[in-house]
Amino acid sequence: MSEHCVFCKIVRGELPAKIVHEDEDCLVFHDINPAAPVHLLMVPKRHIVSMQEINPEDAVWLGRMLSKVPQIALDNGCNPGPSGGFRLMANSGVEGGQEVLHLHFHIYGGSRPWKGPA
Ligand code: 5GP
Ligand code: ZN
Repeated sequence: MSEHCVFCKIVRGELPAKIVHEDEDCLVFHDINPAAPVHLLMVPKRHIVSMQEINPEDAVWLGRMLSKVPQIALDNGCNPGPSGGFRLMANSGVEGGQEVLHLHFHIYGGSRPWKGPA
């Protein structure tokens, strides 16, 4: 936990968020500034800055967390099948475009047309 981190504050319930999923590993909530018809953020509960800090010992919880993305996407408005789908993205580090320095995965989806971020 990091005292001033905005996503830690959401995990602790100190800041409101539109939460759609919670389990032992993570919280999933709507992005405050959506860039697609569906724009969710999957945030691990423990404070990890980015994928730059991930190492092989994290494979179990990270794999368990990411394996839930397809169902969460479907349950929240992403369309099924090859003509539907979603984009899963983690900006990592400032040069990777990361603004909130607590690891998170963007889940973008919903019916086209939308191009999403570059
Ligand atoms: P990054 O650029 O770090 O990959 O993305 C950070 C994302 O977090 C942005 O899409 C931004 O809109 C979102 N965000 C920033 N602050 C908050 C907040 O307080 N609540 C929610 N729900 N999303 C936030
Ligand atoms: Zn944090």
